[in-house]
Amino acid sequence: MDTLPPTGPVASDTGCHGGRETMLEAARAAGKGEAMERLAADYPKGPHDQPQSMCPAFGSLRVGLRMKRVATILSGSACCVYGLTFTSHFYGAKRSVGYVPFNSETLVTGKLFEDIRDAVHATAKPEDYDAVVITNLCVPTASGVPLDLLPKEINGVRIIGIDVPGFGVPTHAEAKDVLAGAMLRYARGEAEAGPVARPRNVTEGEPTVALIGEMFPADPPGIGALLAPMGLSLAPSTPCREWRDLYAALDCVVAAAVHPFYTASVREFRAAGRPVVGSGPVGVEGTAAWLDAIGAAAGLPASKADAAKQCFLPAIAAALAGNRVKARVTVSGYEGSELLVARLLVEAGAEVPYVGTACPRTEWSAADREWLEARGVHVQYRASLEQDLAAMKDANPDLALGTTPLVQKAKELGIPALYFTNMVSARPLFGPAGAASLAGIVAAQTGQAERMKRMVGFFQGVGTPDGAGYGFRDKPSDPPGFRERQRKIRAAKAKAEEAVGT
Ligand code: SF4
Repeated sequence: MDTLPPTGPVASDTGCHGGRETMLEAARAAGKGEAMERLAADYPKGPHDQPQSMCPAFGSLRVGLRMKRVATILSGSACCVYGLTFTSHFYGAKRSVGYVPFNSETLVTGKLFEDIRDAVHATAKPEDYDAVVITNLCVPTASGVPLDLLPKEINGVRIIGIDVPGFGVPTHAEAKDVLAGAMLRYARGEAEAGPVARPRNVTEGEPTVALIGEMFPADPPGIGALLAPMGLSLAPSTPCREWRDLYAALDCVVAAAVHPFYTASVREFRAAGRPVVGSGPVGVEGTAAWLDAIGAAAGLPASKADAAKQCFLPAIAAALAGNRVKARVTVSGYEGSELLVARLLVEAGAEVPYVGTACPRTEWSAADREWLEARGVHVQYRASLEQDLAAMKDANPDLALGTTPLVQKAKELGIPALYFTNMVSARPLFGPAGAASLAGIVAAQTGQAERMKRMVGFFQGVGTPDGAGYGFRDKPSDPPGFRERQRKIRAAKAKAEEAVGT
């Protein structure tokens, strides 16, 4: 048996609330310095603080669970694993998630690594799986559990070990890229070393475009139709659905970073010699610019993109004309498509004063940012909930598109609102279908303001802070003197702390 590396002394009950700096420091001290630096470079925090988000590991977990013949194992605190598996099954994963539990002793002695290695060996059956993904959550990462010492393959089953700590990966969106990038890297190494499995449904010699980003299922076929007049077809999208798709994706002539935060995946496409194009085919102007950029990156004559534009731009313009949005709309989200949605809304006639995205600023959304800013839109990368709320209150929109807490706040204020993830991302966005669908639903919702105001009036005072909770027949009242006593306690505490400070 190999000598097992001892891991760092991180308390096994430390988690999201244990302090990011403490965890980062522990991870560095435990030998994960290089991995932490890579995450910090790929997923920069600044200029604003880390946005509020669900556990980032949900992103990479979901990417693995959506792939055929890929097993997923988590190593982390039981509460984290409970939350992650609950959420993944809530979203219909219908797949088992492996779990390697630990306690303080197995963590500090290195026995946890042994347990992980045993679990990986027991899972890696070639008749069942092409790959096993093992993920270090916060505590094992901070403790330096060295997944890079696992075998790279067992009986032909690839072993992919990734660190996805909440203190290193800011959003669940970017965690998708951690796993997608690790898989592309592995597959690129295989393809460079020799023959690999033949991808399905790929025509030999046909140049393809590989889309990067999880899109609404109707979008890739729609984008494929846009590309057909250029003699291009689609490679499997990243994140992909089965291992051999990775080879087909890497074999593209152009990679399209439609969702602009897949830094590690883009690195692999570039290492494979593929040019990468940002933005996406939204609205008339966005589609025209995107088709031009794809054609140029693929080395095609401009006439090819012109042919595609002649086919589709009139239909997109007609769809936008048929669904005009005469409203002020704020947009907030964490999907990575927020800027594209805002572009479409502006083209449909909406006034969009603010777009907030939890994702970082990257070169692949630069064209969208410039286009929006030229039209007076404030673009906020790494937007926090507070920034999104402040922007909404300031703009007083006719419709707010946003995350769950933002929509909740908007409804309290009587502002019509739509959940970005459930309502906007669950519709086509690109080409003629996107123009009709998104602009259509937004146009329908903006007519709800009067109804929202009536609802706010009807429920006035119900469920607001002092009246929240079950079982009250009347508005609950404070015990006499309670607030005054609390105020005095707080004042005394502040004074005592001040005295210590001097
Ligand atoms: S793994 Fe996720 S839930 Fe667990 S401590 Fe880290 S960020 Fe929080």
